[in-house]
Amino acid sequence: MNLILLGAPGAGKGTQAKRVEDAYGIVQLSTGDMLRAEAASGSAIGREAKTLMDAGQLVPDAMIISMIGSRIDKPDCRNGFILDGFPRTVPQAEALDAMLKDKGLKIDHVIEIKVDDDAMVERICGRYSCAKCGAGYHDTFQKPKKEGVCDVCGGTEFKRRSDDNEATVRSRLKAYHEKTGPIVAYYAGQGRSKAVDGMQSIDDVTRQLKGILG
Ligand code: ADP
Ligand code: AMP
Repeated sequence: MNLILLGAPGAGKGTQAKRVEDAYGIVQLSTGDMLRAEAASGSAIGREAKTLMDAGQLVPDAMIISMIGSRIDKPDCRNGFILDGFPRTVPQAEALDAMLKDKGLKIDHVIEIKVDDDAMVERICGRYSCAKCGAGYHDTFQKPKKEGVCDVCGGTEFKRRSDDNEATVRSRLKAYHEKTGPIVAYYAGQGRSKAVDGMQSIDDVTRQLKGILG
């Protein structure tokens, strides 16, 4: 099963993708995570991407499309994949359709997680993750069971993203509405997209998703 999770920054794509990954045995492909890994490696592409990411702007389509194209070819994608943060522009969605056609693959579900803009700032500014295993948390909505200790791996170091601040959130939301909003119409026009209410609790959103995925 191949799936696209759409939704504004902070809507809960990564949180839900991890749960779908575990429940259905398919792999999460987050273009944001890939770019952060590239930036951490210090490569020329990574440095270019980091400047744009820290300004809350999208990186060029060509960079992302080639990155995702080679990632989908990896053996761990054979059982299926969850696209998280991609496509983010109509040219990316068109390139994805063409790329999958060439590879003899298709997208089974396009699901938008709908969240009010006002909730995004609080969600993004409270987001952090385990430095060791990457498990995601939130200052208010998803605290570790034992304070300061990761539920998943027992790690005690946590990190926050450099782009998770109020100034950047506003630019990211603007980019979402201008560039990514039309994708919802692109898929809806083809009768391919469904929506879940992302304002519900994390568990409720998972239940809605499983209702669609079966
Ligand atoms: P995205 O991947 O769409 O940018 P995340 O999954 O990282 O968003 O979620 C952003 C933050 O909001 C995280 O800290 C997460 O714990 C929290 N979060 C995710 N879903 C919900 C929800 N339904 N209700 C409250 N907080 C949520
Ligand atoms: P995310 O982790 O999905 O919130 O993405 C973080 C940042 O990475 C975004 O604000 C963009 O700068 C960049 N990015 C991630 N995915 C894409 C994409 N598909 N197209 C363009 N830029 C992207």
